[in-house]
Amino acid sequence: MDIKSLIREIPDFPKPGISFKDITTLLRDARGLSYSIDLLAEKCEDLEPDFIAGMESRGFIFGTALACKLGAGFIPVRKPGKLPAAVHSIEYELEYGTDKLEVHQDALYPPGSKVLMVDDLIATGGTAAATAQLIQQAGGTLVGCAFVIELVDLKGRELLPAVPIVSLVQYTGD
Ligand code: AMP
Repeated sequence: MDIKSLIREIPDFPKPGISFKDITTLLRDARGLSYSIDLLAEKCEDLEPDFIAGMESRGFIFGTALACKLGAGFIPVRKPGKLPAAVHSIEYELEYGTDKLEVHQDALYPPGSKVLMVDDLIATGGTAAATAQLIQQAGGTLVGCAFVIELVDLKGRELLPAVPIVSLVQYTGD
């Protein structure tokens, strides 16, 4: 199945020059959705994660489905002020300004648990690199990173620790 053909590209969203990869057209396709999750599971099962950490908000969609498939727990990595208990927090650079992500301090138990990070897309890698640091702060061991989409030219994977990195669909020229 051709996953790429189910992803819609919206030019100049959210701002001029950005080609937005819209996964809602993949999500609404029953076969495409389950195939994407099956493929992520096939590529990541050998990592045997105890937890999947998914980034808000599209990482929640693929991350929870993958967690069920791999028999792992799910940990939400959230935007600031959303998590109710004590958090670890990290600020990271965006193209313009900064952003913040948070995870519960007690999200990962026992210490050293194996964590696989999941998001819909890796672009510059800033979000994923920040998440990797949060996982470490929370006492987890990052064992891999999985993305549905990789914007290859932005070289996001170069910001990530030396763990296996999986992407299902690659785009160049973005
Ligand atoms: P980055 O931190 O640059 O790797 O950006 C990754 C995050 O931004 C992911 O959570 C994506 O959902 C979102 N994102 C960045 N670029 C795009 C794009 N061209 N289309 C859709 N989502 C994007």
